[in-house]
Order: sequence, then structure tokens, then C-alpha cells
Amino acid sequence: MIRESEMLVVGGGPAGMMAALQGLDNGIAVTLIDDGIEIGGQLIKQTHKFFGSEMEYAGTRGIELGKMLKEKLFNYDNFTYLGKTTATGYYEDGVVTAVREDKEYMKFRPRVLLIATGAAERPLAIPNCDLPGVYGAGAVQTLMNLYGVLPGKRALMIGAGNIGLIVAYQLLQAGTGVAAVVEAMPCIGGYLVHASKIRRSGVPILCSHTILDIQGSDRVERAKIVKVDDNWNPLPGTEKWLEVDLICVAVGLTPLTDLLWQAGCEMRYVSELGGEVPVRNREMQTSVPHIFVAGDAAGIEEASSAILEGGIAGLAMARYLGAPMTDSEYRENSAKYWNELENFRGGPIGRRILEGLKKVLEH
Ligand SMILES: Cc1cc2nc3c(=O)[nH]c(=O)nc-3n(C[C@H](O)[C@H](O)[C@H](O)COP(=O)(O)OP(=O)(O)OC[C@H]3O[C@@H](n4cnc5c(N)ncnc54)[C@H](O)[C@@H]3O)c2cc1C
Repeated sequence: MIRESEMLVVGGGPAGMMAALQGLDNGIAVTLIDDGIEIGGQLIKQTHKFFGSEMEYAGTRGIELGKMLKEKLFNYDNFTYLGKTTATGYYEDGVVTAVREDKEYMKFRPRVLLIATGAAERPLAIPNCDLPGVYGAGAVQTLMNLYGVLPGKRALMIGAGNIGLIVAYQLLQAGTGVAAVVEAMPCIGGYLVHASKIRRSGVPILCSHTILDIQGSDRVERAKIVKVDDNWNPLPGTEKWLEVDLICVAVGLTPLTDLLWQAGCEMRYVSELGGEVPVRNREMQTSVPHIFVAGDAAGIEEASSAILEGGIAGLAMARYLGAPMTDSEYRENSAKYWNELENFRGGPIGRRILEGLKKVLEH
């Protein structure tokens, strides 16, 4: 059986939830599918407070923000949420296939589709990186903040971007020692406010450093770090072994774009946005007219921008479906999100995103 639907949202993170809310607010029936155990995407494990402004719920912890958006969504009668459901494919006739709880095979044919699948963590290929005790930072966050499991006693964090810094601090809060944060770039990539908290806790942040080797018999026991030159070549004589049982890898994310590729959306490689991302217009509409994109799947950024992009896409999708709104109402509401996005992208990290967007944002 093919389920005909108005708006289908794949991915229940901040981008997908916000787009769904916009659709519902405009009287559209929305089905949202997400493969997680709980709606919210990354938000459900983020215990720290967000930055930004009121429109992106700044000052709120990610975990609370997820709950707030969930409550709003579940207030609507025409909202259908399918959790533990993975979208597995997109077919030429516009059908999206999905598997629910590893049992039920489902087919949807939405009039409009949002891909808000977020991102995947990048691995680091070094000797013995398959030993138990080597985790992505997102996995460490899930273990600690979702399942209440301490992943190790003493950690080495690889990467001093926001994710590395935030998760290093959360490890300390949970009672895991952090031997060091190493970063191959000559400077810290994340916000200094996060870096300062780590330093105040006595954890060194070693820039121009990387990990070379891991040792352990049946799990991680130690890691070898080294200083690198400007071309990331190890500098002989600077190697050092650290006794750790947890290696946490936070070396970047890649947009999850499989469904967009399958749908034949035009894609471009944009390093500033984290990899291959879809070409889109200012409505977040891809080159396939009924498919829209928002959040990390459109380019790696932050939850705050995912919320705003979700709002833009949701509003445009509602209009695409003929929701009752005048052109000037649409323009005014969309402009509110865009103005906020432009403010949010005003800082140094945002400037890089803006450079990337020039390569994929058309008309
Ligand atoms: C450790 C960490 C700390 C962060 N801290 C901040 C911060 O302080 N402030 C901030 O603004 N941002 C922060 N971010 C970034 C922020 O979490 C992301 O940018 C944001 O969650 C992206 O939202 P999204 O909706 O695009 O994707 P996600 O939140 O990743 O949600 C995507 C959802 O789609 C699901 N999904 C994927 N593929 C499928 C499929 N095929 N079928 C069904 N479901 C699927 C995923 O399981 C997930 O639930 C942080 C990220 C991390 C990892």
C-alpha cells in the first residue's frame, strides 16, 4: 500500500521539527519519520545552553528545546509521527520507502518532501582505530546523556571544534578525566567560551597536534600524539604517549544526502559546508521541485541555523501546497527567518558558511 501524504519530513531534528511546525501552522497534514528512539535529532543529548537570539531559543538547553518543539508538534491532530522508522530509498515515481522498527515496510508518496536527515560523523583512519574505546563524539554524547553510560575513565579528545570542546566538557561533568584535546589546526576552531571552560578545568588544548597511534590488547590503553607542522606532517622527536582508555573523535561531520542523490537532486562539493550538498534556492527548494532540504543535510552548521532553515523550508513547502497565505504574508514571514539567519551568520564561523552558500544558493 502506498500512503499518499501532503508533507513528508524525513528527520526529526531541529530542522525537520521546525519545518513540520510551519506546515501544521498553515493547515497542512504532516508526517514525520525519524530513525531515532525519540524525536529531536541531536537535541535530545545536548545538555548545554545554546547561543543565538530569541528566535533560535538561545539560552535554552538543547534537550529542553527538543521537548518544547515536540510538545508543540504533538498538539496538532493532523501530525503523524513515526519513530524508529528509517527512510531507505527514493524511487523515480516519487515514492519514499521506509522500514519501521525493523519489521514493517512502508511506502509514502508525498506531494512535498523535506530531507532533514542531518549529518554523519567522520571517522579517523589510524592504526588500531577499530579497538573498543574509540568513539565518535556524538556516540559518546549518546552514551552519557541518553543512556547514562560512562564511556571511559580517561579520554583523549581529537578535535577542538565546538563538538570536541562541548563533549570534552561534558565528559568532565560526567566524571571522566580528559588527558588533552588535540587539534591539527594551529588554532581552536570552536567558540572560545567553550575552550575557556576546558582550560579552566586544567585540560590542555594542544593545537598543531594530532594522534598517530593507538595501543591496547583488547581495548584502548594508550594513544600516541605528536606535534605537526603547517602541512600536518609529524615533527620527529615530539611524540608522546598518553594513558587513556577512551579516544573521542570529533573531526567533523558529513551531510547525510543519500536520499537527495537518489532523487536526482543537483549536488555540488562545497568544502565550507562539509561535503556534497544540494543546489537550492532561497526557499530551500532543490533542483527537484517538490523536494526541499534544511539543516545539516544542506550543509554542516548549527542547531540554531537548522531551526531557521527548517522554518524557511516549512513555510515554502506550505505555500507550494497552496496553503492560504498572500504573497506579501509569505515574503514577510520568510524574511524574518532570513534576517535572523543573516545575523546569526555574522560571526567568523558564519562567514565561512556564507562563502560556501555562494556556491549552491541559486536565484
Ligand atoms: C556534540 C554536539 C554539540 C553541538 N552543540 C551545538 C550548540 O551548542 N548549538 C547549536 O546551535 N548546534 C550545536 N550542534 C549542532 C547541531 O546539533 C546540529 O547542527 C543540528 O542538530 C542539525 O539539525 P538537523 O535537524 O539538521 O539534524 P539532526 O539534529 O542530526 O537530526 C536529523 C535526524 O534525522 C534522522 N535521520 C537521518 N537519516 C534518516 C533516515 N534515512 N530515516 C529516518 N531518519 C533519519 C537522524 O537520526 C536524526 O534524528 C552540536 C552538535 C553536536 C554533535
